[in-house]
Amino acid sequence: MSANQRTLSIIKPDAVACNEIGAILSKFEEAGLVIVACKMMHLTEKQAGEFYAVHKERPFFGELVEFMTSGPVLVQVLEGVDAIAKNREVMGATDPSKAEKGTIRNEFAKSVGENAVHGSDAPDTAKTEIAFFFKENEICERT
Ligand code: ATP
Ligand code: MG
Repeated sequence: MSANQRTLSIIKPDAVACNEIGAILSKFEEAGLVIVACKMMHLTEKQAGEFYAVHKERPFFGELVEFMTSGPVLVQVLEGVDAIAKNREVMGATDPSKAEKGTIRNEFAKSVGENAVHGSDAPDTAKTEIAFFFKENEICERT
């Protein structure tokens, strides 16, 4: 457990297109996560490819970049005690058919690819991913 951790979260194009932004942000807040930075953007192919570079050898990489650039996304920094693990818990499993009831992916994901949200998976990736989207002065002190 670590106090006041930050994590990078993305509401993906499928959920933005279905007008589910508010419902998903509520899930974060209900779990005690605090939104300390937030912006809507339409990722370019270059940005999506760089962001998911770790998956570039995977068979679904092309599909993933195409999906992530198919419409606007909402990118946010979430803060709270154990925020990285807590966010992953609220998100649910990558494959929505395996996501627990009440999780975001259980309620909003369409498939293993179009799965509503992204969340950082470890402290080092959280740091890199936050810096990919936000300057330090764009993140607000809330706690
Ligand atoms: P994310 O990194 O988006 O938070 P994750 O950590 O749960 O998701 P990863 O294994 O990092 O899952 O995969 C990154 C993303 O790639 C998934 O969220 C999904 O959009 C896509 N993806 C993963 N596996 C598949 C697959 N088998 N087919 C299609 N797309 C996939
Ligand atoms: Mg991941």
